[in-house]
Amino acid sequence: MGAGVVQQNVTRWVRPGIRALSAYTVPDATGLIKLDAMENPYRWPEPLIDEWLARLRELHLNRYPDPHSRQLATTLRGVMGVPDSAAVMLGNGSDELIQIIAQTLAGPSRLLLAPEPGFVMYRMIAACAGMAYQGVPLKRDFSLDLPAMLEAIEQHQPAVIFLAYPNNPTGNLFDERQIGRIIKAAPGLVVLDEAYHAFAQASFMDRLTEYDNLLVMRTLSKLGLAGLRLGLLAGAEAWINEFNKVRLPYNINTLTQASADFILQHHEVLDEQTARIRADRDKLLDDLRAIEGITPYPSRANFILFRTDSGRGERVFSALLGKGVLIKNLGAASGVLADHLRVTVGTPEENRIFVRALLDSCQVNNE
Ligand SMILES: *Cc1c(COP(=O)(O)O)cnc(C)c1O
Repeated sequence: MGAGVVQQNVTRWVRPGIRALSAYTVPDATGLIKLDAMENPYRWPEPLIDEWLARLRELHLNRYPDPHSRQLATTLRGVMGVPDSAAVMLGNGSDELIQIIAQTLAGPSRLLLAPEPGFVMYRMIAACAGMAYQGVPLKRDFSLDLPAMLEAIEQHQPAVIFLAYPNNPTGNLFDERQIGRIIKAAPGLVVLDEAYHAFAQASFMDRLTEYDNLLVMRTLSKLGLAGLRLGLLAGAEAWINEFNKVRLPYNINTLTQASADFILQHHEVLDEQTARIRADRDKLLDDLRAIEGITPYPSRANFILFRTDSGRGERVFSALLGKGVLIKNLGAASGVLADHLRVTVGTPEENRIFVRALLDSCQVNNE
């Protein structure tokens, strides 16, 4: 078949909503200081790695994994403080949990609503699941526009609302009472996406007992286990039971179950790393505030959003890349994020190199 015929078939059979999407691209970071993806920069102490490897030796990869990840789920409930009355479901990263929620709720006139700018996967997963999507602009300071949210809820009757707490890419925590108002006004589900919980130390987990349309989502990715792919969804059993029908039976593989359970038994290692990252974030914020031509936003996460002088974002991003530092350029994402860049908090050494390179880039720009 010629390429033209293939393209005709693609056009005929692939849903227009999918053809209109662009795949989520991850830039190649080989040889670069990688401060673009909210990863924890630290490894585990050597003795702990040896102990982990000894645990992996005992696994039987010829057998299917436990479809309910029972041991790991029990450990996670304890570490994450899930109320006894709530049920949990695990996902291959929280991205998969978002996908399962969307697939379960999708249908004609079913809509997913989220504030913007926000996590891009909400819109993307809605499109892939065949669900309508409605973004609601945040205020200029990136706080919730409560009247606009309530009006959008009234108008669109969303099946589900996603609120990232703290929000990505803006880094702020939305107001707790405003979130309460949204949960009460929502006709369907509200998912609190607490991907950055370790850095914000604020949560709706204990409010699960208060609202039966609330779900709380966590991930191990930003905590230090991005390579493992594990997310957790907690909420009323009646909801979780339905999601479990959509979840593929063996979505959490044996290596992930054993490794996550192992490191969570030693979670003080991760706690110590995230405490260090929080302290380094505050120092990095001070350093950024001191640079002329840079306006950083306060952050409750492990990244900092900042704005460059008008029209300079692209050049600053490229200049940093030229100096071997990869961060995230959000300028293309939408109008309000023009000239906005996002840097992940790295090791003190990486942060120093980044700040030095940023200073140089800004000076070059000012000539
Ligand atoms: C990173 C991130 C996720 C996805 O995490 P995974 O568990 O790695 O899939 C979900 N929500 C928000 C807001 C994020 O920033």
